[in-house]
Amino acid sequence: MKYQSIDTIAVHGGHTPDPVTGARAVPIYQTTAYQFKDADHAARLFDLAEPGYIYTRLNNPTVEVLENRMSMLEGGTGAVATSSGQFAEFMVFTSIAEAGDEIITTNRLYGGTNNLFFSTFKKLGIKFIGIDHDDFEAIEGAITDKTKGIYLETVSNPGNDIPNMEKVAEIAHRNGLPLIVDNTYPTPYLCRPKDFGADVVIHSVTKFLGGHGNSMGGVAVDLGTFDWAASGRFPGFTEPDPSYHGVVYSETFGNMALAVKMRVQIMRDIGGCMTPMNAFLLLQGIETLHLRMERHVENAGRVARFLEGHPAVERVSYPDLDGNKNAERLKKYLPKGSGAMLSFELKGGYESGKAFIEGVELATHLTNLGDTRTLVTHPASTTHRQLSTEQKQAAGIGEGLIRMSIGIEGSEDILADLEQALAKAEQV
Ligand SMILES: *Cc1c(COP(=O)(O)O)cnc(C)c1O
Repeated sequence: MKYQSIDTIAVHGGHTPDPVTGARAVPIYQTTAYQFKDADHAARLFDLAEPGYIYTRLNNPTVEVLENRMSMLEGGTGAVATSSGQFAEFMVFTSIAEAGDEIITTNRLYGGTNNLFFSTFKKLGIKFIGIDHDDFEAIEGAITDKTKGIYLETVSNPGNDIPNMEKVAEIAHRNGLPLIVDNTYPTPYLCRPKDFGADVVIHSVTKFLGGHGNSMGGVAVDLGTFDWAASGRFPGFTEPDPSYHGVVYSETFGNMALAVKMRVQIMRDIGGCMTPMNAFLLLQGIETLHLRMERHVENAGRVARFLEGHPAVERVSYPDLDGNKNAERLKKYLPKGSGAMLSFELKGGYESGKAFIEGVELATHLTNLGDTRTLVTHPASTTHRQLSTEQKQAAGIGEGLIRMSIGIEGSEDILADLEQALAKAEQV
């Protein structure tokens, strides 16, 4: 049966009751390997001539439910789950690029992604070029013969900026390049990148998808929209792979060529697979994604409006507020609302920020996001501590900036906690 609603996919996608036992929940296949039927069966599996299980680094029935559910949620042709969101990024870019190649990205990225792109990939010889996501001329101008893709965050972490995905996709496709997006902040419940031209979607499942702050995981979804052969830029897809008896991915696997290549090359060789136990816990979270996101959005909207009217607060950054520069794009790309993430600047600067972060009682001070619980961070004393005041200013990080991931508690309790912590921040 084809599901009409993304809510139904979140609950059922990719899973039917176990045919042997009738188990209704997704069983945890806590096994490393799988018995072959005979020597020919084993040989066919190793030739990729028949689907099946060999070794959990390559695939696992519990992890596969998560992969198929994520692929269905994003409208893809296949997905590969990973040990973390960071590894999903690593897997995608090592599948499409090699030393000497280039990837165009933005200068508004999650800190971990920023390090991976500009430090670790640099050592591997893959060059990332960071450009303002609204400077379309510069993006197109940076494309060379070596470029293999363009990368964006659908809503940027931590700035909450929404790029013009459709426009960037058009530039990418005109130049024979795939658009790869990180859809971690909105999740497929709030934003469907496939509708706006994306070809590959990456998630940190650690965040809102898992949603309970208990398990790390990532996933990369092949949306099946990009024609690797027609582009002419991807010999890795159109020429024989000697490590698989000369298989040509774009010919043999068509619109799921990337999904297969990520698994059989990068997972096989580098590892970084998701564990069955984490897949089970993350699937448990995904089953209530739609309910949680609805409450996250409702609570975050209330908090944003409360903060906007508070005398200790200089300004609030949340796309769904009157006058926010992202308001138009919000309507188009995230019609159900802007999600749980917001930030605000305290009038009292660094000391106020510290008093606030130490003053919260319900909210938790840590660096994570996308939990059922309300979380707070003070970037100036933690994640952005090493930057000079000028660098912080350039990155839009004020001394009194607070970032929040609004949880799904009762909003009256969240607001009461903020009220009392803001009173402490005002006293310093
Ligand atoms: C957290 C995060 C990542 C990295 O994911 P991990 O699961 O922590 O490895 C990547 N992108 C964004 C936008 C994130 O918030």
